[in-house]
Amino acid sequence: MLLEIEDIHVHYGKIAALKGITASVGQGEIVTLIGANGAGKTTTLKTISGLRPLTSGAIRFDGADISAMRGHKRVLAGIGQAPEGRGIFPGMTVEENLQMGAYARKDDPSKELAEVYELFPRLAERKSQAGGTMSGGEQQMLAIGRALMAKPKVLLLDEPSMGLAPMLVQQIFTIIQEINRRGVTVLLVEQNAQQALQIAHRAYVLETGRVVKSAPAADLLDDPEVRAAYLGGD
Ligand code: ATP
Repeated sequence: MLLEIEDIHVHYGKIAALKGITASVGQGEIVTLIGANGAGKTTTLKTISGLRPLTSGAIRFDGADISAMRGHKRVLAGIGQAPEGRGIFPGMTVEENLQMGAYARKDDPSKELAEVYELFPRLAERKSQAGGTMSGGEQQMLAIGRALMAKPKVLLLDEPSMGLAPMLVQQIFTIIQEINRRGVTVLLVEQNAQQALQIAHRAYVLETGRVVKSAPAADLLDDPEVRAAYLGGD
C-alpha cells in the first residue's frame, strides 16, 4: 500500500474527531471517503498532510512511518493536497500560483506546467489573470493544478466539487479520473457521494470519527444502507 493510516485518533482540544480510523490507499487507486458533515473526512486528510497532530496511531507512506514528519516534508515526500476552501494566493497571477506549487522542487517544472495547462485549458487562457479574480470553479482548478506542480505520488482532494455549477462538477470528476490515469494516486473526500463512488475504486464510509464500512466503490453504489443514507436513494 502506498498510504496506510492505522488506528488514528485525533482531537480538537477535548473533542475526539477521529476515534481509531484505519484505511489504506494503494498505488494507482482512487479511494474516496464519504460520510455526513462532521464525520471526520476533512480531519483525516489534514492529519495525513500533517496539518493536525495525531493523538495516537500511525501513518505510513511509501514504506516509511511519517507520523511525526513535518507537513512540508510530507509534500516533498510526495503527498500533495488541494485544500477545502482552496487557499490560492489572490494577488498572484494564475501562473505564479502554479509556480508556487513547485517551489520546493529542484528540477525544472515546465513539463508539469504544460500538463496542468493541458488538463485545465481554462488556466492556460487565464494565466496572467490574478488568482483572486477567477471564479470559484476556476480557483478550484487552480488549487488542484498547483498541487500537481509538486509532482505528488498521492493527491489529497477535499471536496473538489463544492460550490461548483453542475456542468463543472461533472468536468472536475472527469479531470480527477484523467489525473489518476496519468499515474497519480488519489484520496478523495466528497459530499457528492454518487459521483465520488462512480470514479473511485474503493471507498470508506465514515460516521462520527469511525469507519463503518469499507468496500469496492461499485458495491457501495448498490448497498441499500449507503443508498438510503448518502445517495438520496430508495
Ligand atoms: P465536513 O464535510 O463538514 O467538513 P467532515 O467529515 O470533514 O465534515 P471534520 O471537519 O473532519 O468532518 O470534523 C470532524 C469533527 O471534528 C466534527 O465533530 C467537528 O465538529 C470537529 N472539528 C472539526 N474542526 C474543528 C475545529 N477546528 N475545532 C473543533 N472541532 C472541530
